[in-house]
Amino acid sequence: MADFDLCIIGGGINGAGIARDAAGRGLKVLLVEQGDLASCTSSASSKMIHGGLRYLEFFEFGLVRKSLAEREVLMGIAPQIIWPLEFCIPHKNAIRPAWMVRLGLYLYDHLWPRKTLPASGQVNLARHEYGEPLKNGEGVGFTYADCWVDDARLVVLNVLDASSHGATVKTYTRCEKIEPLSCGWKVTLKDLLADKEEHHTARVVVNATGPYAYEFLKSTGQVMSDTPKLRLVQGAHIVVPRLYIGTQAYLLQMPDKRVIFVFPYGDYTLCGTTETDFNGDPVESAALPSEIQYLCDALNENFRRKTAPKDVIWSFAGVRPLFEDHETDARKVSRDYRFYEDKSSGNLLLSVFGGKLTTYRTLTEEVMAVVRGEFPSMRESWTATKKLPDCPVDFSKPPTDDDLRYFIKKEYARRSEDILWRRTKWGLTLPPNEVELIKKKVPALVKEITGHDAA
Ligand SMILES: Cc1cc2nc3c(=O)[nH]c(=O)nc-3n(C[C@H](O)[C@H](O)[C@H](O)COP(=O)(O)OP(=O)(O)OC[C@H]3O[C@@H](n4cnc5c(N)ncnc54)[C@H](O)[C@@H]3O)c2cc1C
Repeated sequence: MADFDLCIIGGGINGAGIARDAAGRGLKVLLVEQGDLASCTSSASSKMIHGGLRYLEFFEFGLVRKSLAEREVLMGIAPQIIWPLEFCIPHKNAIRPAWMVRLGLYLYDHLWPRKTLPASGQVNLARHEYGEPLKNGEGVGFTYADCWVDDARLVVLNVLDASSHGATVKTYTRCEKIEPLSCGWKVTLKDLLADKEEHHTARVVVNATGPYAYEFLKSTGQVMSDTPKLRLVQGAHIVVPRLYIGTQAYLLQMPDKRVIFVFPYGDYTLCGTTETDFNGDPVESAALPSEIQYLCDALNENFRRKTAPKDVIWSFAGVRPLFEDHETDARKVSRDYRFYEDKSSGNLLLSVFGGKLTTYRTLTEEVMAVVRGEFPSMRESWTATKKLPDCPVDFSKPPTDDDLRYFIKKEYARRSEDILWRRTKWGLTLPPNEVELIKKKVPALVKEITGHDAA
């Protein structure tokens, strides 16, 4: 008998969500992540739980409907990290005629029933506060609501809940090999902190490695003639000193027909994103000077307050793992997910290609439907109504050693950047001397708590 029912490779939102769902249904789950939880795409998103208004332009009605439905579900299960956000779209007739925006917003309002968020509307920017920070603060501003999320914490909370349902979680552990057995898979892992190899067996392997999905199959010798490929598209964001007072966000229409999101981010303003084809190692993606300039230009085109690259306090980039459909325009490549099921060895290897933060939970339910064939007595779906756990740390107060201990003991943090940039955003909000203090303290605390040196 295999040690585990399910071995999930990848601790981004998809792997975390699958681990939670499967463990709560009674499966024996092993979740393996080569770095920190959410260290790749899932902490570098635009942080929106949204239907995806702009996908309507490409007739992705099914994806928008599914995402709008999930927006309601996720607001219900994670109100501690998901917040409503009202957007204003300054109208630019030369880019999209008003009837088109109105039609899009009508569909957005009606593709799925809203329970709490307001319907779309229209304001006169010359008289409304939303017009104040804008350079051309007159004419029409269309309004609609979506949500934003602490993306890295969404991953961590899913993992905590998976673990409370019995899942085994190994971070800084790379899956190096999978080999078919007569019933299941032998999985070879490398604990990167202890520099130790370990072996486990699992009935089913789920490849949830996001932008690495194809490479993972290639490196483990599992590529078949019909294995789909991924298109990797980098998106960069910048964080600048707060551009305006007010809680509203803006969706800016660019002359190249792209849209840019701008929203308040604590004491700052967050702005993104770009779309640049990407070829390197996804974990090393970083905002290019040209992307930073593009985003500054977008802000300067629309806001009174000037922004130059030197004003950028923080930038980050992530790589979208998009299902390759050979579309030349990256904007048009679907943001929906697909599965690739390989049973050629007699054992199920299920790979996830693409997806969005917003739809991670429906993705996990569909993964469960696929693996039900292997585990017919598995329990029914449950994640739509069960709240994600809370965090005892008060993020508004200065960090204490107990907070650091909590993140290491309970939330799998192993390096100072895990705490500074993913469990919290203290890397951005604390003064440099306090950040340095945390950097100094964490290795000793990790050693004290885990017995290992921080890598
Ligand atoms: C710029 C940008 C903006 C976005 N904005 C939004 C948004 O606003 N809203 C939204 O809904 N979606 C958004 N998305 C999409 C969303 O972020 C991604 O779809 C999602 O985060 C992908 O999650 P994942 O779990 O598949 O991949 P990842 O988060 O990349 O996780 C995969 C993990 O697998 C690990 N891994 C790889 N190989 C191995 C191995 N051999 N062993 C162990 N671990 C391994 C990696 O280290 C990685 O952590 C955005 C994406 C980008 C890039």
